[in-house]
Amino acid sequence: MSSIRFICQGCRQPMKLDQFMGTLDPETTQESAASTFTSAQQEPGETLEHGPPARAETDSEKLRDGASCSTHPGDDKMPRDSSNKFILLGKFDSARTLTNIQKTIRDISDILTGEKDMDHPICEDCTDKLLEQIDTHLVIVESENQSYKYWMGRIHEEETKTLQEELEGLELEEARLVQELKEVEKNQERIAEDLEAARAETKMLDQQDEQYWRDYSYLQWQHLELQDELESMKNQLRHAQIQWGRLKKTSVFSATFEIRHDGPVGIINNFRLGCLPTTPVSWKEINMAWGQTALLLLALSNKIGLEFQRYRLIPCGNRSYLKSLTDDPVQLPLFCIAGQRTCSQVKFDQAMMAFLDCMQQFKEEAEKAKWGLCLPYRIHAESGLMEDSGSSGEFYSIKTHLNSEEQWTKALKLMLINFKYSLAWVSLRCQE
Ligand SMILES: [Zn+2]
Repeated sequence: MSSIRFICQGCRQPMKLDQFMGTLDPETTQESAASTFTSAQQEPGETLEHGPPARAETDSEKLRDGASCSTHPGDDKMPRDSSNKFILLGKFDSARTLTNIQKTIRDISDILTGEKDMDHPICEDCTDKLLEQIDTHLVIVESENQSYKYWMGRIHEEETKTLQEELEGLELEEARLVQELKEVEKNQERIAEDLEAARAETKMLDQQDEQYWRDYSYLQWQHLELQDELESMKNQLRHAQIQWGRLKKTSVFSATFEIRHDGPVGIINNFRLGCLPTTPVSWKEINMAWGQTALLLLALSNKIGLEFQRYRLIPCGNRSYLKSLTDDPVQLPLFCIAGQRTCSQVKFDQAMMAFLDCMQQFKEEAEKAKWGLCLPYRIHAESGLMEDSGSSGEFYSIKTHLNSEEQWTKALKLMLINFKYSLAWVSLRCQE
């Protein structure tokens, strides 16, 4: 039988397995060799199932003592098919086969070292070195494993503690959120009530707004009407001011009484006072002229606040008269009826005398005032005469008895001229 030679893949020294292989059956040897050679070509982790387990059982001591193949007497008790199916780390077990051990070593070496490209087969010394390395590494790994477990425990505790704290925090947060939810629900109810109140208020405000606009339109309409009225009032005021300005320049006496003359006959308000043989005037017109003259004298005396003594003047159109203020009041007519001229002529003359007396009283009172009245013709009330004191100095009687129409008419004209002066005087007084 020829010995089988191998080169150790670690130290490159030749290995002799003839003694070892000599103790084995040729079949077993071939199978072991074949498995040894093929094991290098198998995938890591695969297990070999060749060879009878009983003859392959050995321990590391026997391998190191020259690879003797003598079997241990107690090896028959070992389970035969489980010894070559597992790779056991740590101490070598007698149930391992060399092939399995080598494969295991190779796998472990490949796994752990990675850098060292060690292949099979390897010699016993290299195997021992490798095992020592593996043991050392295993110790380190176990230490790291313990450290890992310790730190894993610490981390787990810390994580548990953290998670517990987080859970407590979350429970507090949940309680707070529940409380907050209750408050939110309360707020929601309150807001709903507020919303309802706001809607009611909005409705009320809308009604008020509508009422406001109605009132506003009504007031606007009233405003326009008042504006129109104001414009109208302004126009009326403007017109009244114009009238007022015109009236201020107007004397009520001058506007009411117009005295002029047509030749020898004096005229008041278009009524002739007097008559001439050449210019006959009806008694009706003369009576009207006397009525206007009586009204003028009464207005003038009222203007200066004069109350006549002895007589009361009553102007009454063409039936004006004077009333005596004596104990026996007598009416003196300032008119003459055409058919009754003879009987009424005495009283008519007395009335004209009384009128002249009243005019004299007015003259005397007016002369006392500021800017006293100054008449051009003197009045002689006791004798009933008008004195033409300006030019001729003649006297003209105002009576009709024993008097000519020319003299009577002249006396009446002079009296009217005096009244014209009186009108101008009183008009000046009115404008002061
Ligand atoms: Zn070696």
